[in-house]
Amino acid sequence: MSDDKICFCGSMRRHKKCHPDISWESLAAKMLSLYAESDRLIDTHYSKNRVKPVCRKGCSECCSTVFSVSIVEFFLICREMIKFDHKRVALVKQRVLQSISYLNSKQPQLLDYFRSNHSGLDFKEMSLKVYELSKGVKIDCPFLTELTNRERICSVYNVRPLICRIAGTSFYSNDENMYICSHIGTNKTIMSSGPSTVDIWGSFIKEILTVTYNDAIYRGTVYPLIYWLYLALNELENLKIYLGGERHQKYFQMPYTKAKEKVLLGLS
Ligand code: SF4
Ligand code: SF4
Ligand SMILES: [Zn+2]
Repeated sequence: MSDDKICFCGSMRRHKKCHPDISWESLAAKMLSLYAESDRLIDTHYSKNRVKPVCRKGCSECCSTVFSVSIVEFFLICREMIKFDHKRVALVKQRVLQSISYLNSKQPQLLDYFRSNHSGLDFKEMSLKVYELSKGVKIDCPFLTELTNRERICSVYNVRPLICRIAGTSFYSNDENMYICSHIGTNKTIMSSGPSTVDIWGSFIKEILTVTYNDAIYRGTVYPLIYWLYLALNELENLKIYLGGERHQKYFQMPYTKAKEKVLLGLS
């Protein structure tokens, strides 16, 4: 029945014509509907207040910072990468390996942190720790594509992670002196120019990546895109297979409450 409904992703197309391979209550559907919701909030804010966003097409400095995303966001990008030809996949792999080798020499503590056990830490703690450890580290996102020699664009724009949608419009809290880019710096007025999608993100990530079991809290890990890609490096040539089977069931089909128990608690 849900096939005839307008798709959860905000495209205004019917579900069966838009995302027929993603079921309505799945983790992937929840994520895509959050993307649509945050885009809508930001667009409405700018048109209602008649202000122009600082961010514009071709502006990509923030794409060279290290930030964390959830596994669901990573899998949505993998799904998009199925459309990439062999050459593009090879380029992504090459960039990932270059970045990991750069981190190994420049900031090995960051790699050590990725490899450590994050159980018990919440999403914000993990993200802020990555932010702290990566100050002064510049790594181009492997999905950045040259537009001109001064402008670059995102090659996975429609499925870019939530943080890429909100950088420059919202921040974690007044206490944190976050540096965004040379256009914004640490200017909190600009950073709070959009709605607080970070708050939505905080509660959302709790809902989709947290399970309480026998009084203990289990949380999914968040990593920078570059590290998720590194972990899946040998699978990037065969993403249809990588995203098939049990992974497809858990992330793209199963109702997310059940999926969370399987993913986070390993319950069958
Ligand atoms: S956050 Fe900064 S670098 Fe990124 S798009 Fe906005 S203005 Fe440009
Ligand atoms: S996914 Fe796209 S928007 Fe996000 S950092 Fe990479 S190139 Fe930039
Ligand atoms: Zn859709």
